[in-house]
Amino acid sequence: MHGVDYMPLKLFCAEMNYECQWDRFRGVATVHGSRHDVTFAVGSSVLLVDGRAGRLTHPIRWYRGAVMAPQILEEYFTEPAARTTAVQLLQRHPVRHIVLDPGHGGKDPGARGVTSTVEKVITLDLSKRIADVLRQAGYQVSLTRSNDTYIALEDRTKIAHQRGADFFISIHANANNSSSLQGMEVYYLNPKSMTHELNRAAAQGKMVALPYAASSMQAGADVKAILWDMRNVEHRRQAIELGNTVGRKIANKIGAKYRGVRAARFKVLRDANIPAALLEVGYLTHSTEGRRLAQSSYRQQLAQAIGEGLQEYFSTYRRTDGFTQ
Ligand SMILES: [Zn+2]
Repeated sequence: MHGVDYMPLKLFCAEMNYECQWDRFRGVATVHGSRHDVTFAVGSSVLLVDGRAGRLTHPIRWYRGAVMAPQILEEYFTEPAARTTAVQLLQRHPVRHIVLDPGHGGKDPGARGVTSTVEKVITLDLSKRIADVLRQAGYQVSLTRSNDTYIALEDRTKIAHQRGADFFISIHANANNSSSLQGMEVYYLNPKSMTHELNRAAAQGKMVALPYAASSMQAGADVKAILWDMRNVEHRRQAIELGNTVGRKIANKIGAKYRGVRAARFKVLRDANIPAALLEVGYLTHSTEGRRLAQSSYRQQLAQAIGEGLQEYFSTYRRTDGFTQ
């Protein structure tokens, strides 16, 4: 395997008499050594030693249904300093660069509602306004599209990765057969989509590259991804935190309704290897909200509230290095 000596993790733990907790659904393992606890994910070369991020020379891999670790992993358990010269990468990753993704565009108009203004127009205008609010607060913001062009869903997170963004937020407006529904919903990726891939690969005894496989990414991004992903609970908590912070702002500032945080398997979020969320800012099919969303004055108010909410969330995120506890 690439000229690097790999060993089955199970054998290593048995020989060393270390306890190993293996979460096969997320492909994440924690090995409790005599000196250190080491956590890592299959497909990634990033690991946490006693909660601090470090990096292996080669990723942990699947091979014929077994989790294989590079031989060098041993040293993380035996050295007193546990190789944490490998730095506290976490602290280097506050949210600085945000990619906003105006939903739909070009040949894909998105949802229609009570006015003639379609979703793609609203999401683009709103994203530009949110970008202005965040830029004024000192954030670097870019958009996946700045005009009425069509971008395939799978290309949208790719754009964010290429630009080295820290956070990806897709902006949409909702529609429903029931005209009584109104308010904002916040979605995050349901990690089950990853589970499915992992399980299938494991069942076939294949090696698997997770979406955040280190090889295809620039330095640092897989750290953000693994930390975001390694703790499903934390991931969910972050999404709830983001939703609640933005939701509180839109409720207090403009009296809009906040409907909560949901998990989903939106295709646009699926390939994200950075923290990602999708905002459904309101219902185009609601008689009042739909008309408001078509007005630029309302969109300015909404953008201001969303922008302030995001700022508040990001400053908390920075203080806690991406962890809420
Ligand atoms: Zn949409």
